[in-house]
Amino acid sequence: MCEANYFYIRCGKKQIKQFNHADEYFLLIYFSKAKTTYFYFMKFDLTILGSSSATPTNERHPSAQVLNIDDELFLIDCGEGTQMQMRKFKVKFQRINHIFISHLHGDHYLGLAGLLFTYHLLGRTKELHVYANSELQEIIEKQLQVSGTTLIFPLVFHSLPENKPHHLYENKKISISCFPLLHRVPTHGFIFRQKHCERNIIKNKITELNIPVNKIPEIKNGSDFTDAKGKKHSNAELIMEPSPEKVYVYCSDTGYCPKIVPFFKNADILYHEATFMHDMEERANAKQHSTTVHAATIAKKAHVKKLIIGHYSARYDELEPVLKETQNVFSNTEIAEEGKIYSV
Ligand SMILES: [Zn+2]
Ligand SMILES: [Zn+2]
Repeated sequence: MCEANYFYIRCGKKQIKQFNHADEYFLLIYFSKAKTTYFYFMKFDLTILGSSSATPTNERHPSAQVLNIDDELFLIDCGEGTQMQMRKFKVKFQRINHIFISHLHGDHYLGLAGLLFTYHLLGRTKELHVYANSELQEIIEKQLQVSGTTLIFPLVFHSLPENKPHHLYENKKISISCFPLLHRVPTHGFIFRQKHCERNIIKNKITELNIPVNKIPEIKNGSDFTDAKGKKHSNAELIMEPSPEKVYVYCSDTGYCPKIVPFFKNADILYHEATFMHDMEERANAKQHSTTVHAATIAKKAHVKKLIIGHYSARYDELEPVLKETQNVFSNTEIAEEGKIYSV
């Protein structure tokens, strides 16, 4: 097998070599010299497009993120300027078929109409699904009506139920649900949960060893394979094990709300707003936003692996103190940086 383009990462005591071969991602784990196991590594990448709270700054845009799951893109919130950010960061936005809007404060949805008009002008024909508070449909339909536009692609609205968790969407790779947050208008967080994948045969082994199609199911079920020359190939050489399931959680905007913790215990990455530093706790509580310490405390209570904070107030030019204050409570914290890709 070609081992070009690899690099090493560490995982406990195990040595892991990760490489990309013919657009397939593998994790190659050496458990011992005698045994090698291949793991299928599904792309699960988060790109931050907007990290600002209500007022944008020169460097920071209103909320928007794209989650890339095996090259299927999901847009989470769509603040003003989202489509320009997608162009800037080379996001293939025609691959978006599902858009999730947390709530109807302008910094989370005012970019949506512009994006819909662009899809229309580019001749999109695929269905587009929007999950949001039910009033968004009325707003968008009014904007289309006054501009005399009949979209040339089907736009399907799904309303988020107030004050309760709800299952929204699933396909064979991902399951997406929402849960209520604590904010001045109905607001939801979203959970993106990778589903358990099947063991899969390494594609180039099929051609390399001339494996007949009818043998593939039994190899997937654990059988070894003997090739035409009588050489036996162990099942571990032929199979990619599914990588561990991954979970990404999005919480913006919300006041401090420990009630949400059970929805996403042990998640891989939690994005949680940290609009204010903790000396502004009173203002945060009044506006139903969170401070650095609030976000970190939620991450700690939920035992998530990593916290990303964002939705910063425009008053903070420097984000280092915001990060430091959060890390004092939850050390594995990163700041949301626009254009940066975070692998879940
Ligand atoms: Zn906001
Ligand atoms: Zn808000």
